[in-house]
Amino acid sequence: MSFRALVLIPLLCLVQAVGAWGAGEKPLRILTSFYPMYVMTLNVVGDTPGVTVECLTEPFTGCLHDYQLTPADLKKLATADLFIANGAGMETFLEKAVRQAPKLKIIEATKGIPLAFPDNPHLWVGISGAIAETNAIARGLAEADPARAAAYEKNAAAYVAKLDALRQKMHAALDGVKGREIITFHEAFPYFASEFGLKIAAVVEREPGSEPSAGELAATIRIVRQHHVRALFAEPQYPAKSAEVIRRETGVPVRVLDPAVTGPKDPRQAREAYLKAMETNLQVLREALGE
Ligand SMILES: [Zn+2]
Repeated sequence: MSFRALVLIPLLCLVQAVGAWGAGEKPLRILTSFYPMYVMTLNVVGDTPGVTVECLTEPFTGCLHDYQLTPADLKKLATADLFIANGAGMETFLEKAVRQAPKLKIIEATKGIPLAFPDNPHLWVGISGAIAETNAIARGLAEADPARAAAYEKNAAAYVAKLDALRQKMHAALDGVKGREIITFHEAFPYFASEFGLKIAAVVEREPGSEPSAGELAATIRIVRQHHVRALFAEPQYPAKSAEVIRRETGVPVRVLDPAVTGPKDPRQAREAYLKAMETNLQVLREALGE
C-alpha cells in the first residue's frame, strides 16, 4: 500500500463519520433507569449515529421499587446527557438523583399521560401504555436533541407500528376470554389486564419478594375457589413460594406472565425483548384461559 493510500483511508473515514453525524452535532449519551426504558429508548434511537444508550441498572434488576443508588450509579448519572425514567413513582431515587446531578436532563416517560391506576407505575405492561411511553420518549428526545428529531420520530413510528400490530393480534386472540379472573403476584399487571379485559381477582404479593401472611394466603385460596380462577400467574423475575402453596391447595396451575422488566443486554436482542415477552404472554394466556 502506498503512503498516499495510508493517509487517505483514515481521512475518508473521518469524512464519513462527520457526514453521518451532521456537522456540529455533538455525541449524545443517554442513560435509562431500568430495562423497559432501555428497550423503548433503544427502539427510538435505532441506529442514529452519535447516540449511545446505556442502562443504569443491570438487565436482570427488574422493577426499581425501593432501589437504592450506588456510588457507581451516581457517577453514571453525573456524566450522562439525558436520563430516561418511567416516573409515576417507579424510580423512588429520582429526587436524590436530581440533587446529586442538578444539570442532568430527565425525561419521564409517563409524564402527561393520564394513569388509569394512579398509584401504579407499571404502565408499559399494557401495550397501549408501551405505545404512549415510546411516543413520550421520542417527543422528549426530539425536544432535547432537535438536530436528530426526525430520526427519533421515524424510529418511534416504526416501533409503535409493531406494538400496534401485536396489540391487535392479542385482542383477536384474547377478546373471547374477556372477564376471566386471574391472580397475580406483584402489582405489575393492572394495565395489561385492563387492556385485554381480564380481571385480577387478587394480588398475592404487592411488593416483590414479600411473602403473604398465613391469613392472606388463606384468603387468596378462598378467592381462587369461589371465583373459579383459572390461572395463577407468577413472574419470571420473582419466583413465588406462595404460588406453590396455592397450587397445592387448589390444584390451579401456576404459570408465568412476564412484565418485561428483565431481558438480554445486547442492544439488538433487547430491542425485540418486549415484543417477544408479550408474544410469550399471549401463548401462556391462550393455554391458561382458552377452552
Ligand atoms: Zn414492579
